[in-house]
Amino acid sequence: MKLQTYSLHNYKTLPQISALTSEQLEAIEVVGNVLPFKTNNYVVNELIDWDNIDRDPMFKLTFPQRDMLSKNHYSLMWNTLAATRNKEAIKTVANRIRNELNPHPAGQLEYNVPSREGKKLMGIQHKYRETVLFFPSQGQTCHAYCTFCFRWPQFVGMEEFKFAGKESNLLIEYLREHPEVTDVLFTGGDPIIMKAKLLEGYIQPLLDAGLPNLQTIRIGTKALSYWPYKFTSDDDAGDMLALMERVIKKGINLSIMAHFSHPVELGTEAVKLAIKRLRSCGVQIRTQSPVLKHINDSPEIWAEMWRKQVNLNCIPYYMFIPRDTGAQDYFAISLERAWHIFRGAYQKVSGVCRTVRGPSMSCTPGKVQLLGVSEVHNEKVFVLRMLQGRNPDWAGRPFFARYDSKAIWIDDLKPAFAQERFFFEQELELILDEMTGIIELNSLE
Ligand SMILES: *Cc1c(COP(=O)(O)O)cnc(C)c1O
Ligand code: SF4
Repeated sequence: MKLQTYSLHNYKTLPQISALTSEQLEAIEVVGNVLPFKTNNYVVNELIDWDNIDRDPMFKLTFPQRDMLSKNHYSLMWNTLAATRNKEAIKTVANRIRNELNPHPAGQLEYNVPSREGKKLMGIQHKYRETVLFFPSQGQTCHAYCTFCFRWPQFVGMEEFKFAGKESNLLIEYLREHPEVTDVLFTGGDPIIMKAKLLEGYIQPLLDAGLPNLQTIRIGTKALSYWPYKFTSDDDAGDMLALMERVIKKGINLSIMAHFSHPVELGTEAVKLAIKRLRSCGVQIRTQSPVLKHINDSPEIWAEMWRKQVNLNCIPYYMFIPRDTGAQDYFAISLERAWHIFRGAYQKVSGVCRTVRGPSMSCTPGKVQLLGVSEVHNEKVFVLRMLQGRNPDWAGRPFFARYDSKAIWIDDLKPAFAQERFFFEQELELILDEMTGIIELNSLE
């Protein structure tokens, strides 16, 4: 199978496009000029059900929908497109709208990028003690774009510098200087967009460096959902698997952090074969997805997804709450609803599926899991738990917030029991102040 991608300039050549109404086509044009849009022949032919397009989750996952922009933003872009074909003029308006969509949630750029000898190490993020994120510069795109993606600014060319590392040498030096780090997580974009040779250029030096602290290499990818041929029939599929096998032979655990948002992504012959190949060379596959309105907001969908994953030898890992960015209003559900979905699904499956944790928010202090709604001394509360903390000491700590049926993100929550702050807030302020200090020093250079 040869990869054929579709975006704003060529989607009209898709034969299936005749299944769409003029409203849907208009939405693709208008929203697609603001948010990223890319899909491909596998998604279109194997995953989208064109006979049920109004409800189809994979269509909503990769094609722009009208309600992904507010009415104001939509008409602003609609009017712009009606008035001009000038690319620069359209881009100016698009960027104005994008800037109102919280393009940099949870202080990723300010707070997670480490410094070395007074310079920011772009391409590396280090938030939790054991795990470093690495953004290989050649892996910053994807086989298709998810309409909910919080990395969207880098796909529309908004990022002045993508989170991108030029080379793995810097990474190796960083790992040498930080023996507490056990895990490197390759992320993007999608690092599996790279040819095997290119990926090898990043991974082989890590193996050759003989770092005693490096225990696990993780690769975050949606290739199993959007282009499973990467591991089966692409020219370099064999080299890709051989590379992974080399990692494992070296005694390093290799874990694919696979993004699956809907059971349909687990149903094709291509994805089943890809998973089988990866598993036979010893690669672990862990799965994660945000819980999204219009895509997977029911306990049945999640239960089916986890069961299918376990049957295919994958380990359910995280259910996320979508970040407050981009088309969040379209996808957002209340925290309480997310918990009901999680719990409803959790109750339906056996213990082998219950390796999953969630629903979890990746926010400035850490990863915060909503354990549930409860009542303590007549006060209705959310019971929360820090799964990961910017301070490692916070991990595993339970805490309480006032119950709020409308809350969709941690920013909406207030501490319970008339407390003024959450247990981590004061310390978090100090940590962040210190980091801002570093950034200001740098910008004086
Ligand atoms: C989620 C995440 C990780 C990995 O956390 P695990 O709980 O070990 O999977 C690492 N860094 C950042 C910034 C993250 O958001
Ligand atoms: S595959 Fe991942 S990085 Fe790429 S668009 Fe989807 S969510 Fe974003």
